[in-house]
Amino acid sequence: MANEFAIIEQYFTRIGKTADSTILGIGDDAAVVEVPAGQQLVVSMDTLIEGTHFPQNTSPVDIAYKSLAVNLSDLAAMGASPAWFLLSLSLEDNDPKWLSQFADSLNQTASTFGLQLIGGDTCHGKLAISIQIAGHVPRGQYVERRGAVVGDIILVSGELGNAALGLAHKSGKVELEPVLQKKCELALNRPQPRLELTPFLREFASSAIDISDGLVGDLKHILDASDCGASLARAALPVDAWIEQHDAYEYALDAGDDYEICCTLPARFRGEVDNWNHAHPQCRLTPVGEITQAGYHLRDAERLIDLSRRQGFRHFD
Ligand code: ADP
Ligand code: MG
Repeated sequence: MANEFAIIEQYFTRIGKTADSTILGIGDDAAVVEVPAGQQLVVSMDTLIEGTHFPQNTSPVDIAYKSLAVNLSDLAAMGASPAWFLLSLSLEDNDPKWLSQFADSLNQTASTFGLQLIGGDTCHGKLAISIQIAGHVPRGQYVERRGAVVGDIILVSGELGNAALGLAHKSGKVELEPVLQKKCELALNRPQPRLELTPFLREFASSAIDISDGLVGDLKHILDASDCGASLARAALPVDAWIEQHDAYEYALDAGDDYEICCTLPARFRGEVDNWNHAHPQCRLTPVGEITQAGYHLRDAERLIDLSRRQGFRHFD
């Protein structure tokens, strides 16, 4: 692409929060970073492609936010604190308005979460944003999917299903009143990576995952990695009243994009959950079930629904 270097220089050389651990940032053949003493590096990567992960004509502000947020959510699920990221950007054209809005939003988001952009790649092609993120965790304190034990409580942060409800509204499938519509649009376009949970996860969680594909599917990854089963209680699921009233729990169970955290905790830490919720009303943890030896079920009033073979959770009947 023409002006590749000018684009980098103009838009991407000063993004995020400068960190002492960055020895050499953008402008050389590669970046050089230090890992603070006693910490480990946690790295992850996620790509967003136009037409696949977001519709054409999505605002560059939302694209930039979401590309970082989905990566930050992975760090949160590992119990890691954000450090730096690399950006691979494939652009169809060199539109200064699009680029400056994208870069401003990226800068704002990166600064908010204490991340520095230290390098990347820029090329010409279909619009795609690929981010490699890195975080730090005190040695050995990272949280894996493996680690859930029979008797552990299963918890989820926030509310489930709002992002999917926002998408259903956007595509004309459901009608929502304005306040709920706003909440669901925010959940869809501005998912909150739950980084505030990292100290709690490091200290108490036996396993964790972020919910990008729906609770039923993502919890299954914990169960597979930990070689155990689970029993969920429908009545316990934290959902908006709309989902309850419309008996539309499939939004909370099967649909993705919430980027909440699902984690497991030894039952003796139940009091710590109450303490957490008292101090963090914006990021409440709700017990939704428990880890069992085997099987995967949802208790729904007097029914027991088998979740083990569900590819996608559609309806209860
Ligand atoms: P090379 O040809 O050696 O790979 P590039 O021309 O791709 O170098 O990149 C020059 C510098 O700009 C490097 O430090 C690279 O990390 C950085 N860079 C390139 N594209 C981006 C981008 N989209 N965001 C941030 N840094 C970038
Ligand atoms: Mg390069």
